[in-house]
Amino acid sequence: MQKILEEVVEENRPLAKRGRVASYIPALAKADPNHLGICIVDVNGDIYKIGDADVKFTIQSISKVISLMLALIDNGEKVFEKVGREGTEDPFNTLYKLDFPHIEKPVNPMINAGAIATTAQIKGDKFGRILELIRRITGNADIDYSREVYLSEKATGEKNRAIAHLMKARGIIEEDPEEILDHYFKQCSIEVTACDLAKIAVFIANGCSGLESYGKIDRKTLSRNLLAIMTIGGMYNVSGQYAAQVGVPSKSGVGGGIMAAVPGRMGIGVFSPPLDENGNSIAGCAIMKSLSDRLDLSIF
Ligand code: GLN
Repeated sequence: MQKILEEVVEENRPLAKRGRVASYIPALAKADPNHLGICIVDVNGDIYKIGDADVKFTIQSISKVISLMLALIDNGEKVFEKVGREGTEDPFNTLYKLDFPHIEKPVNPMINAGAIATTAQIKGDKFGRILELIRRITGNADIDYSREVYLSEKATGEKNRAIAHLMKARGIIEEDPEEILDHYFKQCSIEVTACDLAKIAVFIANGCSGLESYGKIDRKTLSRNLLAIMTIGGMYNVSGQYAAQVGVPSKSGVGGGIMAAVPGRMGIGVFSPPLDENGNSIAGCAIMKSLSDRLDLSIF
């Protein structure tokens, strides 16, 4: 495995040069484009890693999987009354369809609108519970959020603000939009490593087994929803292409992370900050394709 990781890094490292680190959240522009790391945790708990697998970065959109997990635990499949679970060709921060009278809810929980509508459904201290669940699944009690990225995102998050207020006007969310946004900005600013992502991924890949309580949903239905929704929307508007080429339920974030869950086999965390035009890690996607080809990971 270590040899495969070495080869995969060697082959795909040059691709990072073709991408750009996210800068629409000013604090993210400070990311080092040369960072590159991979971590694999298999269902037996064996860990393989290479490069910057222990370097921290913000989880960003990958947190949408955790907020969906909690919303499903709290509400069961009623969650889907307020957010769909279909694919989309629109980008992650799309807004316009929410103003069409015949559209009743955001298309899926992996776009920003859908994620904000999902976080709104978490009971109690939404952000606190997301952080706690990530700490519990990874076994890493030190995980916290970056105040700098949170404040930077809060100061520049006008598009997300527009999305949340429009959803309030449409009755998709009931609470104060600013309060929900605060939880959302914080959840996106949680700092993880590629190894933390691999641990969350293997938990999902292993049927979400091991939580104390599943609330309103059983663990099989929970893991099936997460895997299916990652497949149809985890890589935004190129999820279909990624499904055909890589074939592993995955979620990316503009911090440069990709979290991939290979059902029954392993979790993978990849980190490389330069992004393509869709907001996916450019070397990260190529690394996932190489790993899928060599280890025969596609579920299709
Ligand atoms: N925090 C980011 C945003 O809301 C998350 C987007 C992403 O990772 N695609 O814009």
